[in-house]
Amino acid sequence: MSRISEIFGSDVFNDAVMKEKLPKETYKALKRTISNGTPLDISVANTVANAMKDWALEKGATHFTHWFQPMTGITAEKHDSFISPTDDGHVIMEFSGKELIKGEPDASSFPSGGLRATFEARGYTAWDPTSYAFMKDGTLCIPTAFCSYGGEALDKKTPLLRSMEVINTQALRILRLFGNTDCKHIQITVGPEQEYFLIDKELFDKRKDLQLCGRTLFGAKPPKGQELDDHYFGAIKPRVASYMRDLDKELWKLGILAKTEHNEVAPAQHELAPIFTTVNIATDHNQLTMETMKKVAARHGLVCMLHEKPFNCVNGSGKHNNWSLSTDTGINLLEPGKTPYENAQFLLFLSAVIKAVDEYQDLMRITVASAGNDHRLGANEAPPAVVSMFIGDELMNILESIENGVAYKGTEKVEMAIGVNVLPHFPKDTTDRNRTSPFAFTGNKFEFRMLGSALSIAGPNTVLNTIVAEELKQFADELENAGDFTTALNEIIKQTIKEHKRIVFNGDGYSHEWEIEAEKRGLLNLKTTVDAVPHYIAPKNIKLFTEHKIYTEAEMHARYDIALETYSKVIKIEALTMLDMVKQDIIPSVSKYTKTLSDAVISKKAISDSIPCSMEISIINKLSNLCNSMYNYTEVLEKSIDDVKNHESSTLETALYYRSVFDTMQELRVVVDETESNTSSELWPYPTLSDLLFKI
Ligand code: ADP
Ligand code: MG
Repeated sequence: MSRISEIFGSDVFNDAVMKEKLPKETYKALKRTISNGTPLDISVANTVANAMKDWALEKGATHFTHWFQPMTGITAEKHDSFISPTDDGHVIMEFSGKELIKGEPDASSFPSGGLRATFEARGYTAWDPTSYAFMKDGTLCIPTAFCSYGGEALDKKTPLLRSMEVINTQALRILRLFGNTDCKHIQITVGPEQEYFLIDKELFDKRKDLQLCGRTLFGAKPPKGQELDDHYFGAIKPRVASYMRDLDKELWKLGILAKTEHNEVAPAQHELAPIFTTVNIATDHNQLTMETMKKVAARHGLVCMLHEKPFNCVNGSGKHNNWSLSTDTGINLLEPGKTPYENAQFLLFLSAVIKAVDEYQDLMRITVASAGNDHRLGANEAPPAVVSMFIGDELMNILESIENGVAYKGTEKVEMAIGVNVLPHFPKDTTDRNRTSPFAFTGNKFEFRMLGSALSIAGPNTVLNTIVAEELKQFADELENAGDFTTALNEIIKQTIKEHKRIVFNGDGYSHEWEIEAEKRGLLNLKTTVDAVPHYIAPKNIKLFTEHKIYTEAEMHARYDIALETYSKVIKIEALTMLDMVKQDIIPSVSKYTKTLSDAVISKKAISDSIPCSMEISIINKLSNLCNSMYNYTEVLEKSIDDVKNHESSTLETALYYRSVFDTMQELRVVVDETESNTSSELWPYPTLSDLLFKI
């Protein structure tokens, strides 16, 4: 055990290291910056930079990099070495405060949605001292925000940091109204559970679709999938177990609190859950976790796949974003309290979340939208594309009692008065697990389950923080000016539940009945990315984000364009990969097989006319028809891709166009998969889905 505690955080320039390496005054100044956001003096920055460099050199570093999160959704780095020439022709290792605080990577090749014209290619990275620097592959990495010359955010981290400030301000106003004077800061805590697939590297390398698109574009359904439920929480295979041990160790070195590892529902699917932490650190850690998962897999002859739907025939992968608010004194604000006052406060926060999710269903949906996640949402294993929330029957009864102004009868059948009198203490398990809800209250936090496995959690948390902050702001405005606090409080809860309870659904979210019911309730059902993204720039959403200074209107339009462009690019790459596979590998292989069959017919005939050949002829017929149809689809696909090049249109029109291209791809897939089922496996050019899923 002591070894683990030695390993943990050994690659992180964390608080303990800072305390040890920095002069007392510098340490204090840095801590003030970290907790209150006070600007850092350059002389302090110089001292910190020097200590960081010495620490990194001890660990064998030669380079440093600002580590940032552009709108590609992954992380980026630009390495600089510490060397600096001396007059006598030697070099010394240097790292200044200026280099620590600010970097100037060329921004022209990152998506900007037109925010930064390419002739003004400069972008800035700015140190985020609230997230610790760390060592990765012999390089000192400094977490930073990334923006344009004009100060527009070009990354996912900046808006997240802004949203943390906004919710802090509004939640503090509420706490003050409840008489809390000692809490100085509200933190958003997040624990993202990460799903992934592990596939044998040799097999992976034999499939163009996996290499280029991260998912199988073709593949006949194997006889066995996940129907026996024999994988979920099953014994972990030795090869996978050794991967997981190695992974944990790497993550621990980076100070990442990897906690739980288990098999998931689908064969070859697994999950890793960390212990929760502050949201911006959780975001950095989740990015590092995804990167480390891939790196460690390579060492084990495996490939870690984070695509949301690598295989049609089994469940896809998601990410569960567990979200809560807590005070700097460690009190979870979504934990029903022990005193009547705490309970009333809890119900107010709960009301804020209910109102937020109802009023901003569209933003919740958009923030998880991607071409990859479209395969999951609405499909059988994942939350449907309808956003709703689960709060459990007991909480719902309490809220409805308040709505109707009647006393609440608890589970113990004890009558309880409502409001700031007495509320029952809700045991965690009454908020029964509802695995079908997109957004579920799980006792002391909300679990946002719609996220795809590859997604950066920055976006969803920026949305959650901002929409809840907006409702808290409205509540605080009202309560601060109320004559009688208790009456006003009851009125707010009553009003909220009356107007927004349509968003609460405690039943089976995967059932068809729910889709129909949701429509009756007037809830949105935005099935694909292309349906969802246009809502992003609706006036109410622009108002929300600009008023809270999370995004400027220009930043929003940029993000809207990037989301649609990315969608179109992904579909295009998939379509082109399909064409390659069909024309270069599949049709030639099937022709070989039909040739073998024809040869067999000829040989039989040579022996005697009476030997039956109907089997061969029937297969040849079938495969020839299938190949013809396959070929026709490739011509249609090719033409569609050519057509889109020829006319200029908006990002939305292009995305709509590619969505129809995707329909053609689905039709082609059906034909190819049927062909696979009728072709000799020896001649089929790719490992089958059962090879991929079960040979590990
Ligand atoms: P479960 O019973 O669903 O497994 P856990 O308490 O083990 O619940 O938590 C699951 C995930 O939720 C973990 O990643 C955990 O870190 C995270 N989590 C737990 N409490 C909080 C919280 N207060 N805020 C944010 N995330 C949390
Ligand atoms: Mg979970």
